[in-house]
Amino acid sequence: MPELPEVEIVKQSLEKKIKLKKIKKVIIKNRNLRFKIPVNFENFLRSAIIKKITRFSKYIILHFLNGSFCIIHLGMSGTIHLIKKNKKIKITNTSFYNSPNLPEKHNHIEIKFNNFSIVYNDPRRFGFFEIIKNKEELNKRFSHFGPEPFSKSFDLKYVHNYLKKKKKNIKSFLLDQKFVSGIGNIYASEILFLCKINPQKKGKNLNQTECKKIIYFSKLVLKKAIKLGGSTIRDFKNISGNKGLFQNEFKVYQREYLNCLNRDCLGKIKKKTLSKRSAFFCNKCQK
Ligand SMILES: [Zn+2]
Repeated sequence: MPELPEVEIVKQSLEKKIKLKKIKKVIIKNRNLRFKIPVNFENFLRSAIIKKITRFSKYIILHFLNGSFCIIHLGMSGTIHLIKKNKKIKITNTSFYNSPNLPEKHNHIEIKFNNFSIVYNDPRRFGFFEIIKNKEELNKRFSHFGPEPFSKSFDLKYVHNYLKKKKKNIKSFLLDQKFVSGIGNIYASEILFLCKINPQKKGKNLNQTECKKIIYFSKLVLKKAIKLGGSTIRDFKNISGNKGLFQNEFKVYQREYLNCLNRDCLGKIKKKTLSKRSAFFCNKCQK
């Protein structure tokens, strides 16, 4: 499942390829994604020029020159492939999770440009495309989301106030998009390990120093993951032939029963299900 760093990589790949390009045609083979693709989608996108591409949380946002937008969410298994005409390039995936080249099945949407196309593939169909008419609608769309870890408003006052009366565990808060946007399961475990905070600790029991650590390490872990190209769980590469390398940095994720990597700690990494998601943590140094 793509998390913020992986979505950022897709966004960066798209930026290199489709910025300032004009859409020629849109072909939809299957409208039944998580939300049904509206009937006017093809017309809406035809002839639109892409001004820029941004990302908020796990959403890719295409900004069109005419002031409208298209939001893309990759869901659980969505990938975007770049297919060049007359060129047989093996690797088409704009990121490095799932298949490196275009699969035969589940290619739901094709957006055609002058001499290349982008194809949206999604076997589980939890992803979606959404048309947004103007800036006001876009702001409204994301108004119920918490700040990204990189945002200035993700500060001590915000985090401490938010958590101070809450009984839910901190691991669940890191996954709660109303509290903070864009942290997924892998990174939540990694962040808490660096903070030396037990994932089962209740929000209200976190002191100011621990809140500061949450802020600091959330930024650090995500920045590092983006820099390293995200996490490649399987041996795949992105379109530039690069592989995500953050998986080599995992301290706790998928390291159950292994020794803690903190020096002087004799603990072992445990796996526990919290709010239906697996949490990985050291039983000794995370309090
Ligand atoms: Zn430890």
